[in-house]
Amino acid sequence: MTLHDAPSPASQRQGMATRAVHAGDQHAPPAGISTTLPIYPATAFVYESAEELEAVIAKEQGGYVYSRWGNPTTRALEETVAELEATDDAVAFGSGMAAVHAALLLDARAGDHILASPDVYGATYTMLTGLLPSLGITTSFVDMQDLPAVERTLQEKPASLVFLETVSNPLLHVANLPAIAELAHAAGATVVVDNTFASPCLVQPAALGADTVLHSSTKYLAGHGDVTGGVVASSAKRVAALRDLSNLLGATPGPFESWLTLRGIRTLALRMRQHGENAGAVAAWLQKQPGVSAVHYPGGSTADRVFLGANRGGMVAFELEGAHQADVFRFLNALKLIKVATTLGDVQSLVLYPVMSSHRWVPAETRRELGISDGLLRLSVGIEDFSDLIEDLECGLRAVAQSGGGEG
Ligand code: PLP
Repeated sequence: MTLHDAPSPASQRQGMATRAVHAGDQHAPPAGISTTLPIYPATAFVYESAEELEAVIAKEQGGYVYSRWGNPTTRALEETVAELEATDDAVAFGSGMAAVHAALLLDARAGDHILASPDVYGATYTMLTGLLPSLGITTSFVDMQDLPAVERTLQEKPASLVFLETVSNPLLHVANLPAIAELAHAAGATVVVDNTFASPCLVQPAALGADTVLHSSTKYLAGHGDVTGGVVASSAKRVAALRDLSNLLGATPGPFESWLTLRGIRTLALRMRQHGENAGAVAAWLQKQPGVSAVHYPGGSTADRVFLGANRGGMVAFELEGAHQADVFRFLNALKLIKVATTLGDVQSLVLYPVMSSHRWVPAETRRELGISDGLLRLSVGIEDFSDLIEDLECGLRAVAQSGGGEG
């Protein structure tokens, strides 16, 4: 037998196209464990036999089947968030709004009523007032700072769930979560909390009575402005129902997004420390500036007990005295370091004009009632050097003062 006649492995008897498609695709897991989480881009997962696949689909055996139902990279993110929020489990979503949607649908169906805080993220407000009514779900709004009003409203009109943000957007009101949870539970409602602004490093709502905790992980969790995502954390039973809901809604994150989010979370505690230190100092500095009529930064209320420590977070809102859009635009255009962007929670400092962006679709009258004035700016203080941030803010304030701004 010549070398030419030697029997070739089956793969070599296959055609070029078949080998191009299949060669190297049956890798066993590597002998060493990767020090970082691998990204599993696979849409589907295969098993040794049809019987085994059947057992996994029937949930008699653990395993992944189809990435919309579950993916190992995304699962690692979910387990991490559940760990940080001290809940049994969590489900990741493709955006914060997908997380809000799923968290609301978990407890509210046609005919149900929601009680919500009015100063929530603008799209959440629009979902409650625009989309959900078309599904037969109505919402009443009540100032969550006013506990007797919360109690009265729950008695007058029973709600299936109470929705609020730990630290509200954009005015940074801190909710007295334990008290609100007690009132809600006594009235038979669940409590759904958007913990995006605080992050689990500052507040763990589940430990304070929240039944569901959600995040736009686009913000502090991921932290670098390069990924859009959401996550909902809750008890094992509720997460199982959420996962069924998520499978139908289909708003699952891609594995690369899950991986990026998880990589961001690795430095969450460090970043939150610096965000809090910088923001506290920026808020104190803004208080002393003549062109600034009000500064909103968490602190000084009894609700502050919800915080795990002294850190009050990286968000500061402030009002340019008597300012309207033209003055605000002068301020924004004068900034060189702080970026004018419709997001928050990044390592870099960002500023947003709620009237122009996050709360643009909230009726002007409602904005006024909420205290979202035409001169209000929301600053997401990054982790840069404090002195550079102050220099930039000074530029903005000077531009308004030089134009004689704040007078019309
Ligand atoms: N919740 C809060 C508090 C937010 O600020 C945002 C977005 O800014 C969302 C939810 C929605 O998140 P996403 O933009 O990731 O859909």
